[in-house]
Amino acid sequence: MASETDIETKRTHCIRCGECCAATGPSLQKADLPLFFNHVIDGTSLYTIRKGELVRDNIHDRLEFTHQEIIKLRDRETGKGCILYDEDEKACTIYANRPSQCQAFSCWDHTEFNRIFSGPKAQRADIVKDPNLLRLIFAHEEKCSYQIISSHVKQISDQGESAVQKILDILQYDREIRRLTKEKLAIDPSEMDLLFGRPLSDTIHMFGLMVQQETDGSFLLTIECP
Ligand code: SF4
Ligand code: SF4
Repeated sequence: MASETDIETKRTHCIRCGECCAATGPSLQKADLPLFFNHVIDGTSLYTIRKGELVRDNIHDRLEFTHQEIIKLRDRETGKGCILYDEDEKACTIYANRPSQCQAFSCWDHTEFNRIFSGPKAQRADIVKDPNLLRLIFAHEEKCSYQIISSHVKQISDQGESAVQKILDILQYDREIRRLTKEKLAIDPSEMDLLFGRPLSDTIHMFGLMVQQETDGSFLLTIECP
């Protein structure tokens, strides 16, 4: 949802201006799981923020590492804002069934939102019922967790090339598991970010690293310029 600084907070009631929806979408609480199972929200509209990932806390307008897994509605491809927000109509396309954080959000008073937000979060294990797919998710987490990557990054200064190679192996694994899952299990490619989180080649910059893909498909890791 939007930050305190983004929106006029002198309001005392909702005027349905849509500014909060135009800022970003909510994450799902466990109480929102029926929205997924009843096909109000589908997997292509969601992505996973994995434990240890650097994200923006929109309420307090700061960056922080997540302590737990979060499933979030995607932003629109055309820019900021919840994927379920209809810019032309200035309305939520699932308003009657909007997630609990959206129902609780008031830009002038975050008490109820904070209460809902601190409740149990939806997890991939709540959503994915296929045991083979769940095994793949757990295997990916075991090999590619942000904790493991962070420890390899810290070792670069001491171990040099060997630590870099470990990170490159993880990047390859992250890419391959998505490719194989798409091909072998015939899953919509747009659901990969829900199953495995955002590609590491996109999120690796949180460690001050940049990745380039070579013409032979291999990765090249460089340090981000300040
Ligand atoms: S809660 Fe959202 S829609 Fe309502 S007034 Fe505040 S910013 Fe606008
Ligand atoms: S789900 Fe609906 S109410 Fe919630 S942020 Fe998206 S558009 Fe707004």
